[in-house]
Order: sequence, then structure tokens, then C-alpha cells
Amino acid sequence: MKTILITGGTGFIGSNLCKRLINDENNKIICVDNNYTGSLENIKELLDNPRFTFIEHDIINPLEINEKIDEIYNLACPASPPAYQGEKAVFTTMTCVYGARNMLELARKNNAKILQSSTSEVYGEPLEHPQKESYRGNVNPIGIRACYDEGKRCAESLFFDYNRIYGTKIKVIRIFNTYGPFMDPNDGRVVSNFICQALRGEDLTIYGDGLQTRSFCYVDDLIEVIIKMMASEDDFLGPVNTGNPGEFTIKELAELVKEKINPSLKISYKPLPSDDPTQRRPNISLAKEKLNWEPKIKLSEGLDKTIEYFAQKIKENE
Ligand code: UDP
Repeated sequence: MKTILITGGTGFIGSNLCKRLINDENNKIICVDNNYTGSLENIKELLDNPRFTFIEHDIINPLEINEKIDEIYNLACPASPPAYQGEKAVFTTMTCVYGARNMLELARKNNAKILQSSTSEVYGEPLEHPQKESYRGNVNPIGIRACYDEGKRCAESLFFDYNRIYGTKIKVIRIFNTYGPFMDPNDGRVVSNFICQALRGEDLTIYGDGLQTRSFCYVDDLIEVIIKMMASEDDFLGPVNTGNPGEFTIKELAELVKEKINPSLKISYKPLPSDDPTQRRPNISLAKEKLNWEPKIKLSEGLDKTIEYFAQKIKENE
């Protein structure tokens, strides 16, 4: 039996990962979350499973577990700008930095392998396009996104120092924009906002001129590469970009969602938040070469599955 601890396990990516890993009868899952942006609703079907345990805990505080842990996936951190910024900014930095430190300590004591969910945000407003892992980024250290961007950068540095000092087995992935079922409809990110707005017959809100780009990865593709990364050779530490290189403007995304749900909907333009990156697209050659991975699900197909999920969710809540 392998004991796997997942922080952020009730969140969007975490809950998808719990559901995938529990399918293997040799896995025991310990899901840890403070439920700030996650929800037990996302993992309700797992709560009765004898191989699944949920612990309500904030990883800003140290965590003691009375059994041997084999692997840790550190996914805990609010990831949507409205959820991580503003009055939550200090909490976000603490989650990234203290959270990483606490989980690294747990890994060190257990001699466990630990995977860090880093982010494309480490590249900031990128001056290299598409972004390769060797690009060191262009982050505004005092801007409103810095709590997340610098927090995640510091966490990467802690991971590599634990590896150098204690020999901790680490894995670092840099996740680009991801979407799919079990996103929080109210978390304010662009895919969930557009789909929920369209389903409710509201205007789609584009921030700025909508010419900024993002590359959207469907969650099932991401889960596959996260698991592959954990299983990779011990000497492959990363960081490795995990995302879909298909690049779209936010306007194109809005048009696609409108077309699928209701072409007569209107778009309303809102101010662009400060430090909002102009473009973002991963170079995934490293993931292809080392992990034999590339995303399979095209944006249009992934949006169909996501629309189905949100339509059901909205119906349940009516
Ligand atoms: N965005 C938008 N309308 C929305 C939500 C977001 O135009 O209702 C824009 C946002 O300004 C950014 C892009 O969509 O340029 C992606 O935003 P998201 O919050 O999903 O992710 P991130 O900015 O962290 O990549």
C-alpha cells in the first residue's frame, strides 16, 4: 500500500487528483485542506472510502501525521487572482512559503517524495515567448500579483534547497492555466466566469481589450502529467512546464463560449487589473522529452465537457 498526501485536496486540481489516484487499490489518500477555496462537495463521493481520509488543516501550520507517508503532492494555495489578492495577500504568501516549508519537513521526516505545484506566474510579464523553463521571468515584486508569484518562486527555491541540503526527493511542475469540472463557479477565473455568465444569459466580462493571451489545459491532461512527474526518475527534479501550448486571446475564448452556448450574448468590457500578463504560452519540449507527455484534449472539446459540468451545477443550485 502506498500512502499519498495531497494538500489542496478539496480544490479544483486536488479533487481531480484524489479521484484519479483512489482508483488504484494500492493507494491510500490523505487529503488535507483548509477549505478556503476548496470544498468537501468536490470530494463527497470519496468520504466513505476506507482508503481515503480528509484532514481539515491549514498548511501554514506544521502538520504531524502518525503514519508513514510515501508521496506528497503540495497543491494547496488559492490560485484565482480575486481569491489570492487583496486582504488575502499575506495569507497567500504564507501559504506558499510556510506551506512549502511545512510540507518539505514532513517529506524529510518520512523520506517521502514531494511534488510542488508551481506556476506559469513565475514568468510574470514574460519577455520570452513561448516560455521555456530556463527563462527566469519578469515578475513585479511589489505588485498585486506578487504575493502569489513571489510566494511560488520562493517555494521553488525552498524545494531545491531541501534537495541540496537534505537530499529530499523533489519534483517541481509549473502549471499553466487549467480548466475543467470541479472549478469553483464563483472563483473569478476567465473560463468559469465566461461559461457561467453565458449559461445565466449575462454579458461576458472581458478585462481590458481582450487581446491578452492564455493557453488553456484541460484538467484530465494536467492530472496525467502530474502523476507522470511523480513517477519519473529520481534525478529528474524539474522544473517542468505543464500546460497546453494552444494559445488564444481572451476575446477568442469569449467568442468560442458564446458560439457554444448562445451566440446572441453581449460582451461588456471592464478595466484590466494591474500586472495582468499580456501573453502566456508554455514551451513543453521538456515534458515531451522527459515524461513522454503532451495534452490530448483540444480547447473546444474541453469546453464542451466543462459547460456540461457547470450547467449541471447551476441546475442543482437553483
Ligand atoms: N479575464 C477576463 N474576464 C474575466 C476573468 C478574467 O477578461 O471575467 C482575463 C484576465 O484579466 C486575464 C485572463 O482573463 O487576462 C485570465 O484570467 P484568469 O483569472 O483566469 O487567470 P490568470 O490571470 O491568473 O492567468
